Amino acid sequence: MMAWAAEGRHLLSIDDLGREDIQRLLTRAESFAEVSGREIKKVPTLRGRTVINLFYESSTRTSASFELAAKRLSADLLNIKSVGSSVDKGESLKDTVQTLSAYDPAAIVIRSPNAGAAQMVSRWTTASVINAGDGKHEHPTQALTDLYTLRRRVGSLEGLKLWIVGDVLHSRVARSGILAFVRMGCEVTVCGPPTLIPRGIEALGCAVRHTLDELADADVVYSLRMQLERMQGTYVPSLREYAALYQIDSRRLTPTQLLMHPGPVNRGVELDARVIDSPQALIVDQVESGVVVRMAVLFELLAGGGRGARNATEQEPQPA
Ligand code: ASP
Repeated sequence: MMAWAAEGRHLLSIDDLGREDIQRLLTRAESFAEVSGREIKKVPTLRGRTVINLFYESSTRTSASFELAAKRLSADLLNIKSVGSSVDKGESLKDTVQTLSAYDPAAIVIRSPNAGAAQMVSRWTTASVINAGDGKHEHPTQALTDLYTLRRRVGSLEGLKLWIVGDVLHSRVARSGILAFVRMGCEVTVCGPPTLIPRGIEALGCAVRHTLDELADADVVYSLRMQLERMQGTYVPSLREYAALYQIDSRRLTPTQLLMHPGPVNRGVELDARVIDSPQALIVDQVESGVVVRMAVLFELLAGGGRGARNATEQEPQPA
């Protein structure tokens, strides 16, 4: 659908992907899981291609997994962070992208505090652009990682009941997640204080609750971080009161429910330490899955056919 299959081959939003696109990506990621299990975790697929990670915002998991994904596909990788680059000197996003495009990258992975940044970058470069999080708008590769992680644990996602709990308002993970989980047949409910649930979010296909009273209905509880860095003003009386009403702890999480969180976790705020470290938590699995899912995204964009596939000779993962 849309940009995924169109001329530009970018991944800007989950809306770029139809259900079949998602299935294909998840299956591709599974094939890379086999590679990740080998001692030498490398295939030559993107040899000679350049991937640029352009991160204007803090990141641990997303930047590390894109870096590992590009390296495991044998691409040449450039990591540019706003701190320490000419962005520090006031260079605009457009000038930075045009400068980096002179190195003829096959892909630019962009994280920005501004919604719509990835979309803009896609207009300024001939590289495939991957949105690694744009403000509170979207984080499509996180959603794909979450689908992959959950599918590995439970099999089919059809009819699965998922509650997304917490700071939905500031969460790009929630937005991409709702779109992706609904597309794959899950029943999604978002839950949080009214101040942290965007008005009209039901239009994305989810239900809304403001208390955890019916949390036991969920098969999966997806907890979100309180994103204090995006809050201008006061959204909850205090973190303590927020935790009293919305923290997921071992009283609220039933023994058969699964727990997810995109990280980083604020221990003792949205999650109690005991549930984080419980076998019900898929949080570490989500991190692990991030690499193979991002390998699949890079593969599909750069070697899976279309304009972005120029020079790609290996279509299937082969031992390096
Ligand atoms: N790591 C995720 C993101 O970049 C979630 C978070 O920061 O809370 O959006």
